[in-house]
Amino acid sequence: MHFAAFIEVGESVIEPLKFYENNVANSVRLLNTLKQNNIRKFVFSSTCAIFGTPEKMPLTEKTPMSPASPYAKNKLVVEWALADSATAWGLGFVALRYFNAAGAAADGTIGEDHDPETHLIPNVLKVALGQREAIKVFGTDYPTPDGTCVRDYVHVEDLAVAHVRALEVLRPGEQRFYNTGTGQGASVREVVEVSRKVTGHPIPLIEEGRRAGDVPTLYADNALIRKELGWAPKYNDLESVVASAWNWHSNHPRGFDDRS
Ligand code: UDP
Repeated sequence: MHFAAFIEVGESVIEPLKFYENNVANSVRLLNTLKQNNIRKFVFSSTCAIFGTPEKMPLTEKTPMSPASPYAKNKLVVEWALADSATAWGLGFVALRYFNAAGAAADGTIGEDHDPETHLIPNVLKVALGQREAIKVFGTDYPTPDGTCVRDYVHVEDLAVAHVRALEVLRPGEQRFYNTGTGQGASVREVVEVSRKVTGHPIPLIEEGRRAGDVPTLYADNALIRKELGWAPKYNDLESVVASAWNWHSNHPRGFDDRS
C-alpha cells in the first residue's frame, strides 16, 4: 500500500518538479522494486482531484479526467504507470481516489497534524481550541446552495477499511479504480455549523476571497466500490466525522507533540 506523497496543491503549483520527483519518480522506483521482487498486488492512494472541475456531480469512475494542478497530474500519471504495469508485467492494483480524508481514529490514538495545517476541519477545530481567532472561509460566491464550496468528507477509518478490502479481492494483473467517498457533500458553512454543535464553541468566521484552484463542488458516486468491494462508509454523517476529529484535537492540542 503506497500512501506517501506531497499533498499540498498550492505548493505543487509553485514547485512542480519537487512534486514530480517525489510523487511520480519515487512511485516509479517503488514499482520497479515490486517488479524485481515479483510483488503483484498494490494499493495506491489516488485522489478525486484527477477529475479537475467536473461538469456533472456526483463523480463516477466514468467522469472525464482533467487534473488541474501538478499534484493531481502526479497522481494521474502514477495511475497510468500502474495500468501499463498491469498490462506489461501482471501487476494487480487498486487505485483508491480519496475524497476529503477527515476524522481521527476512534480509539483516540491517531489524528490529523500537518504543519502548516491547510485543511478545513482541523483549522476549524483550532478555533474551538482557542488557537485561532476565527476560521477563514475561502469564497462565499460559489454556485452552491450557501455560496461556499461543497466537499465529500470521508472518515480515515472508512478509507482504511477500503484498503483492506481492496487487498483482499485483488488478483495479479487486475486493474481497479474506485471513487472513495461517502456520496454526500457538505459546504464549508455546514462544516463550521456542525463543529459549533460538536465543540460548543461559537467558532467565528471571516469571509475571505476564493482560494486559487478550488472547485465549487466535489462528491462521489460510490456505487462501484460498494458493489465490487462490499465497502460502505460507517461514518455516514458529518457530525460523527467532526466528533472523532474533535476527540483527538481536544486531547492533543499540540498535535503529535502531545503524544505521551
Ligand atoms: N477552506 C476554508 N478555510 C480553511 C481551509 C479550507 O474555507 O481554512 C475551504 C477550502 O477552500 C475548500 C474546503 O474548505 O473549499 C476544503 O478544503 P481542504 O483544504 O480541507 O480540502 P481540499 O478540498 O482542498 O482537498
